[in-house]
Amino acid sequence: MPSPRLTYDPGNRNDRVRGMRARSRVGGTLRLAAVFLLLVGINVYVFFFRDNTSIKSAMRAGSIHGKKLAKAAEAKGEAKGAAKGGVSEKAAAAAADTPAVDDGSLVVRGRMKGHNGLFAALAATKLDSKEVAAVVKALRGKLDMRALKPHHTFESRLDPATHKLRRFSYRVSKLLSVVVERRADGTLVGRRLEQKLDTRLMRVAGRISGSLTASLAKIGVSGAVAARLLHLFGWDIDWYHDPRPGDVFKVVIERQFLKGKPFGYGRILAAEYSGKVAGRHRAFYYKPRGKNAKGDYYNERARLIRRQFIKTPLYHYRRISSRFHHRRFHPVLKRRKRHNGVDFAAPPGTPVVAAADGVVLSAARAGGAGRAVLLQHKGKIVTQYFHLLRFARGIRAGRKVRQRQVIGYVGSTGLATGPHLHYGMKIRGRYVNPLRMHIPQGRMLPLPERARFRRVAHKLARELSGITVASR
Ligand SMILES: [Zn+2]
Repeated sequence: MPSPRLTYDPGNRNDRVRGMRARSRVGGTLRLAAVFLLLVGINVYVFFFRDNTSIKSAMRAGSIHGKKLAKAAEAKGEAKGAAKGGVSEKAAAAAADTPAVDDGSLVVRGRMKGHNGLFAALAATKLDSKEVAAVVKALRGKLDMRALKPHHTFESRLDPATHKLRRFSYRVSKLLSVVVERRADGTLVGRRLEQKLDTRLMRVAGRISGSLTASLAKIGVSGAVAARLLHLFGWDIDWYHDPRPGDVFKVVIERQFLKGKPFGYGRILAAEYSGKVAGRHRAFYYKPRGKNAKGDYYNERARLIRRQFIKTPLYHYRRISSRFHHRRFHPVLKRRKRHNGVDFAAPPGTPVVAAADGVVLSAARAGGAGRAVLLQHKGKIVTQYFHLLRFARGIRAGRKVRQRQVIGYVGSTGLATGPHLHYGMKIRGRYVNPLRMHIPQGRMLPLPERARFRRVAHKLARELSGITVASR
């Protein structure tokens, strides 16, 4: 998930006074950290669940292979590792597709960049064309040739005397390489080399005295995690007005390790924010039974935390340049015209996301609207995104989109004085102000799932309660 830029430009003063109320409802999530006050007295408690914790089995959270280690030592290692994550990740990945012993091979490295396909990229190395053909053949069925990216790297190991290939490895990601090796009989055989991540549960807690993002960063937790928390509670907490110094947050999250080194974060399993003004909010990850069921976050009363519509269909924006007006002077047409939407000023290229799950009605040039995307949602609601620089990949009529999926990028096509997103919403054919629309609460978990949910949530709630935060 791209992390929102958490600064915000208050815009002109009139706008500010007029728009305080609406603004607070709008982009709280996005601008929070600028505002989320600094963390005073961060108290961090990082430790891991023991192997036999019942939570672990209850959650069935993928591949959780915990290791019994002294708590203190583990916590220390974790904090240290998180701080230098970049380095250790690289080292771990390099080890993944390189033979442990230096066999005296002539090593040639390359990347896909600037080449038309793997064949051309390989031909630019010291491999002769026969070898290239053999490698490409051995990769068939092991490597998805349509999914090759310019940043992918590969490495050939050649016999220094004969220049015959000994081993070829193509690195798709930190976790996946495809390796071609020469067998004793001289044939080249390919295989996929997948790295397994170990996942352990980590508990983190702190007290607000600054920005949540900054405070989490101080304890080695990435900004991406902070962004997820902002999104998660952005439905219920007004990040602009509600936080107070001393408010407490707690998170139970999956920490991933690659060969013992910190790698990244998995799911947030439970989170809590309790504040003087915000009140107490808890979120629990729950995946209903059934093959196609998707996990999501629910509150203590089994209600979905996510709502149908997000408040601002931009990851970050500078300011609201024009609000919903029944009549306003149009800067380009030089006459009064109804403004059926809200304009968000944003730098060109800023990703625009779908405000809700839906289907693309159209993605095309539409006169004054410029490049425009129209989405159809449940409840006879249509959302409109105008003046786009370009559409996101795969956005065309009939395609399904998910909430927060990128559908295009901010531009100034059509009748526009500068780069901005015009965001409009129609309910049963009538324009409404998307900033003032009451966004209904999320739906309840279906009845047959609730008993099981309560058991899972109860255990997670106890874990949250068990995390102690020192008083200030
Ligand atoms: Zn507009």
